[in-house]
Amino acid sequence: MAQLDWKSLGFAYHDTNCHIRYVWKDGRWSEGELVESPYIPMHIAATALHYGQSAFEGLKAFRRKDGKVSLFRPEENARRLAVTARRTCMAVVPEDMFVDACKRVLKANMEFIPPYGTGGSMYVRPLLFGSGAEIGVAPAKEYTFIVLVTPVGAYYKGGLQGVRAIVVDDYDRAAPQGTGHVKIAGNYAASLYPHLEAKAAGYPVELYLDAKEHKWIEEFATSNFLAITKDGKYVTVESPSILPSITNMTLQQLARDMGIPVEVRPIPFEEVTSFAEVAACGTAVVITPVNEIERAGKVYQTGPATGCGPILEKLYKAVQGIQYGEIPDTHGWNVDVE
Ligand SMILES: *Cc1c(COP(=O)(O)O)cnc(C)c1O
Repeated sequence: MAQLDWKSLGFAYHDTNCHIRYVWKDGRWSEGELVESPYIPMHIAATALHYGQSAFEGLKAFRRKDGKVSLFRPEENARRLAVTARRTCMAVVPEDMFVDACKRVLKANMEFIPPYGTGGSMYVRPLLFGSGAEIGVAPAKEYTFIVLVTPVGAYYKGGLQGVRAIVVDDYDRAAPQGTGHVKIAGNYAASLYPHLEAKAAGYPVELYLDAKEHKWIEEFATSNFLAITKDGKYVTVESPSILPSITNMTLQQLARDMGIPVEVRPIPFEEVTSFAEVAACGTAVVITPVNEIERAGKVYQTGPATGCGPILEKLYKAVQGIQYGEIPDTHGWNVDVE
């Protein structure tokens, strides 16, 4: 075991033994090598640096109750990265190579995977970018695929904490036919400024509406929007410009398993008054309850005053229970690393 204070790990980069690195050249991927240094020598004209040919993924590995380590739904991240790669003219990482890369780098860093019971996990960050030199705007002829891992702590120390959200009316995240549905670096650079503004105003998360009409709910800057209606339905957004969250897919399936009706459809902002519970969802935190949403000075109550509503809490526990091997993984979502 690495000498880490597992209980006080936050969500921050922590050095490990190595990452894994592959290079695509002349139409094929290299075998992949484990690299100790966290630095990468890069051509000054790499397209990632100039033209934003860069994409990432995020998933987690868990040390389960039975002591084994598993990745959660890695093939879904592989598929999503392939969609992103095609949209940005980058070399596609085959699904088996993607999953194998995650397993290899985890096996080389086993002692950094937080033990069962600490609430921690290993965050797995695949990264794909144009490393070939171009000075005219064109796709690179060389790509680098990296998977780095870093241990992260339990996000919630006690029960689930709720947050306040603010609607962003002065900025848009993604245009209807733009790149909001793919996980490219540029989307996040564009969201930093509005995020800092929201934070300075006292809101940890910001909610985007559709860019065309500012009428429909899209998603939070780095997580999907979901709500439990007052009549007990799970509703989430259908839009071509949101990022298809794997956590959201997982929660939808678990809701169906529990007999909760699931609706995936456009959601007009006015509908906030009919929600009993609202959350942001994503890999890092699973669920962040959103207890109130502010828009243009008006505050809408979207959950209990503090903490988490009962249905979201039940869904959260179901996801974590499967990830830590405490309840049966009936959908086969856990992929053993060894
Ligand atoms: C990564 C991301 C999410 C969450 O996706 P998960 O697969 O659940 O981690 C949601 N929205 C945006 C914009 C994202 O980048």
